[in-house]
Amino acid sequence: MKFDIPSGAQHILRTLTDMGYEAYLVGGCVRDMLQGVKPCDWDICTSARPEEAKICFSRQRIVETGLKHGTVTVLAEDGAYEVTTYRTEGPYSDRRRPDYVEFVSSLTSDLARRDFTMNAVAMDLEQNIQDPFGGIEDIRAGLIRCVGEPARRFQEDGLRIMRALRFGAVFGYEIEEQSAQAIHKNCHILKHVAVERINIELCKLLAGPNVGRILRQYPDVFCQFWPQLGPLAALEQNTPWHCWGGWEHTIHALEAAPDDLVLRLAVLLHDVGKPACKSTDEDGVDHFYGHPAVSAQLADQMLQTLKFNTKTREQVTSLVEHHDVQILCQERSIRRWLNRLGTEAFFQLLEVKRADNMGQNYELVKGRLALLDEIKAKAEEIILQKQCVSLKDLAVNGLDVTAAGVSQGPAVGRVLNVLLEKVLSGEFPNEREALLSLIPAIAQNF
Ligand code: ATP
Ligand code: MG
Repeated sequence: MKFDIPSGAQHILRTLTDMGYEAYLVGGCVRDMLQGVKPCDWDICTSARPEEAKICFSRQRIVETGLKHGTVTVLAEDGAYEVTTYRTEGPYSDRRRPDYVEFVSSLTSDLARRDFTMNAVAMDLEQNIQDPFGGIEDIRAGLIRCVGEPARRFQEDGLRIMRALRFGAVFGYEIEEQSAQAIHKNCHILKHVAVERINIELCKLLAGPNVGRILRQYPDVFCQFWPQLGPLAALEQNTPWHCWGGWEHTIHALEAAPDDLVLRLAVLLHDVGKPACKSTDEDGVDHFYGHPAVSAQLADQMLQTLKFNTKTREQVTSLVEHHDVQILCQERSIRRWLNRLGTEAFFQLLEVKRADNMGQNYELVKGRLALLDEIKAKAEEIILQKQCVSLKDLAVNGLDVTAAGVSQGPAVGRVLNVLLEKVLSGEFPNEREALLSLIPAIAQNF
């Protein structure tokens, strides 16, 4: 046996075949095994109708939620497996799932409804392969090719366009020429695809090591759900700092960003407000005054459009808004930023800044990159030393302030903030006695 198939999946395949049905591993898991990647989920297709499959697994726990579409989920000891009856699909009029499915009797008809040849390969218990559409050859060649006529397949379900780009970004495969052309021609269909489905594919795409190449080749696709990217994709920037236009700069920055959703989104969107802020001085040099705030506003809209959750949206927009701030390499400046943004966001901001710089004229920005390293090292030291960077770290609290005679209410917070500022700036140590002695003088001012 060449491939390592989990015992739960083997058991299901055996149960179905022992009962006289055909059963195959199919889709992503077969594709991943063939390209030497560890599969994350194992799908099984079978000639057994859903009621028949239910009987086969009557001694196991099953979930019936997908029954209408032919799927029985079998809960084996080592995980959940979707067992789906061979089927074709009706149209996707709600743009989420097919209106109806039709059960069919041949594996080939089931494979024909699948999106790409690499996802239309099946493997039985003995690890015999069924590959009627040439998926193995395409996997070898690193090609994403539609099963059937590309335009028709994308028109049936526009999400396949995003899936093609996602597989391109994650696996580094090229999209085969005719499929690529059909994507460019038909990408307007994405406007009708449920944003939740686009969101899922976009997140996977952004995590891919080849995201840059996909953005470079398919800006038109991204503009379907995020038209705000259009002006950025066309932006020229004539400044000594930049050796690329807006889109190429964004791509280089994104390629330099760590593989983390919040960071990748922030980098993708950090300059989206630039076109609206562009001005050119008398020497012909472009400026983009105020673009971080405009970018943050647009980013917020864009993330709402795709229904990102509030936390992600807030994290990303804050990073976009602050991507251009100057952080001085002094402890007190670093402590202030740690206080203002919080530790996690501060370190994320350093990553965004690093990526942004990596997308610029390297000779000119290498000094800035070194500075960012220094700031990071100092910030790590500040954290390690447990220095005070927030009210909760302060050596005195609200009770101390009221005990010193300040009446309860907003004045307490104000006094604490003045004390915190003195500690952040390094004017006073974060020591209880020293801070307590300051309270009466500060309180006089409130
Ligand atoms: P992943 O590794 O992310 O799970 P996957 O290809 O397995 O990728 P799934 O969403 O798990 O993606 O789908 C399983 C299989 O179902 C696919 O391999 C493909 O054969 C088929 N499939 C999924 N979505 C579509 C679609 N929109 N159109 C046609 N076939 C699809
Ligand atoms: Mg899968």
